[in-house]
Amino acid sequence: MHLDRFPRHQLTFGPSPIEPLKRLSAHLGGKVEIWAKRDDCNSGLAFGGNKIRKLEYLVPDALAQGCDTLVTIGGVQSNHTRQVAAVAAKLGLKCRLVQESWVTWPDAVYDRVGNIQLSRIMGAEVELVNEPFAIGIKQSWENALDDVRRRGGKPYAIPAGASDHPLGGLGYVGFAEEVRAQEQELGFRFDYVIVCSVTGSTQAGMVVGFAHDGRAQKVIGIDASAKPEETRAAILKIARDTAEKVGLNRPIEEADVVLNEDYAYPEYGIASAETLAAIRLGGRLEAMPTDPVYEGKSLQGLIDLVRTGKIPAGSRVLYAHLGGVPALNGYGALFKDG
Ligand SMILES: *Cc1c(COP(=O)(O)O)cnc(C)c1O
Repeated sequence: MHLDRFPRHQLTFGPSPIEPLKRLSAHLGGKVEIWAKRDDCNSGLAFGGNKIRKLEYLVPDALAQGCDTLVTIGGVQSNHTRQVAAVAAKLGLKCRLVQESWVTWPDAVYDRVGNIQLSRIMGAEVELVNEPFAIGIKQSWENALDDVRRRGGKPYAIPAGASDHPLGGLGYVGFAEEVRAQEQELGFRFDYVIVCSVTGSTQAGMVVGFAHDGRAQKVIGIDASAKPEETRAAILKIARDTAEKVGLNRPIEEADVVLNEDYAYPEYGIASAETLAAIRLGGRLEAMPTDPVYEGKSLQGLIDLVRTGKIPAGSRVLYAHLGGVPALNGYGALFKDG
């Protein structure tokens, strides 16, 4: 595999830490060892997260093309747009964000706090657009790109989640390589990796990275899109493209994409009672906050898979914490009593 063919502009602190979640493991019966890889604190750029790791491989391309404005799209409380705004600020580029109404949520401050507040503070130009959730290319996004050009700027287009982009899968190939190096130090290998999936390039990169040592199918995606067919198709396509790019020595098969659909209910961006219970458990046992949109759902999945024995006794599981905590600010009403 040749990830080093691709230039990387370092935006993370370096390898993100792996730590044992001892109290959570004990709470769930103590037969499965649960560890977390903390990509939620992988960077000093506005709280970091998985998009920073992906953007390390897009930035050299943007700079080589001489672009002066990063343009991207997401929901009102998108972590991705916040991370693009952070990267733009750090590099001295302009940033244009299209924030669509992907989630209908009644908190009065939903469009004022958390991710969108941080993006505004970092100088991004934020445009609120009334369009529902969908993973594909949007007219509002094309309009934003045209608008930047009309004003004499040179936009660099980054699709939602940095996923539908030729370089979008590379960051999480690197994640797998990082885990392999950390496993050497720990003296064991993880049996499973749990990862939240929506636009797909995080899991796709991991599938390719772990396929290298035969563990693609040990990457358990937890869908949070509630449109699992679209997410599964995106993961497969990005994994295949990325495998070709880095020269993986075998093809990616459909069976390499394991996506569990059981925890995305009731819909994207809305937490179930069980998701909220998982968020509280992670907070109370490990001081590890997770959000109602993404990581709360993958934490719920992890807990349920251990409780029901689907992750067998004796396993070591790595929970990839991808970030997202700033979005909690938009959901204050849910936690006013703890
Ligand atoms: C974007 C995001 C995800 C989903 O990653 P994809 O690459 O879009 O599948 C999961 N968790 C958090 C916190 C995110 O911001």
